[in-house]
Amino acid sequence: TDDRLIDGDRKPEDADAALRPKSLDDFVGQRQAKDNLRVFVKAARQRGEALDHVLFHGPPGLGKTTLAQIVANELGVNFRSTSGPVITKPGDLAALLTNLEKGDVLFIDEIHRLTPAVEEVLYPAMEDYALDLMIGEGPSARSVKIDLPRFTLIGATTRSGLLAKPLLDRFGIPVRLEFYGPDDLMRIVARGAAKLDAEMSKDGAMEVARRSRGTPRVAGRLLRRVRDVATVEEAGAIDASVADRALQRLEIDALGLDPLDRRYLRLIAEHFGGGPVGVETLAASLAEARDAVEDVVEPFLLQCGLIQRTPRGRVLSASAWKHLGLAAPKSAVA
Ligand code: ADP
Repeated sequence: TDDRLIDGDRKPEDADAALRPKSLDDFVGQRQAKDNLRVFVKAARQRGEALDHVLFHGPPGLGKTTLAQIVANELGVNFRSTSGPVITKPGDLAALLTNLEKGDVLFIDEIHRLTPAVEEVLYPAMEDYALDLMIGEGPSARSVKIDLPRFTLIGATTRSGLLAKPLLDRFGIPVRLEFYGPDDLMRIVARGAAKLDAEMSKDGAMEVARRSRGTPRVAGRLLRRVRDVATVEEAGAIDASVADRALQRLEIDALGLDPLDRRYLRLIAEHFGGGPVGVETLAASLAEARDAVEDVVEPFLLQCGLIQRTPRGRVLSASAWKHLGLAAPKSAVA
């Protein structure tokens, strides 16, 4: 999904950073997550203790990294950041841990991708704030124990089901992020437009919001493209019709689905009679990685009720047939 405009994956050229809210009050939506974090952060501050370990889970682009930074800000501690695939050896993690100061936040993105050997180092670090390291090899090898400062691990994962149970159990504060509703996204788009110095009407912001797949990162990306079109057209303020023209150019439809979403739906309709069909087969037919299909494509289609997950595979729902403009076979589930 590398060149996909609206996938949730972070891209280096993303102007994400510029649009990032800095405090819980600035962070739009996710009421329950924010309310809980506010209480736990306050308690940790009052007691002068490190916050318990936090796990954010949910589809890409919903604000996991942003919230982790905000938590560090609100705690008034350093924010150190890494990701599962980057930590290849236990020593890499040990180096990170021994450099932490008391109370610091260590953020590990894609924490489900840690290797078992690295996880083994993480367990005592999370639980006892200690490192058990093996020094030397063979008969002269011995283990040494190093005390660590009390710190807060914040993990982020697209699916908590991918996490090893012992790791999952060590997070005192699990937080699930949900897709955003159009009103929240509209506020995010309007705020983003103001930061980009782009003039935008309310209906223009709503049009982008409605077509952002419930995802702030997508909203930010679409906003920038819509603004490009407005600039080229010398349109002045971005209204709903400018936004609509720009989004059509990007082949983003009324539901916010992009070409890959529609290819996915059409594949199930036209080649598998509406399903059920396994995700492995779908990923192979789309020439996409299974992870990308499961983490990026499917969650939003499920959320919209366009597909259903059954034990035997994915099934199109009636609304998907309708959206594709195809007649559902009589056997299709409603
Ligand atoms: P994740 O880590 O879940 O993939 P990020 O934290 O990197 O997502 O967020 C992606 C982009 O969306 C960032 O530019 C961020 O500023 C923006 N964003 C995410 N959540 C919000 C929010 N609630 N309010 C405003 N902007 C948000």
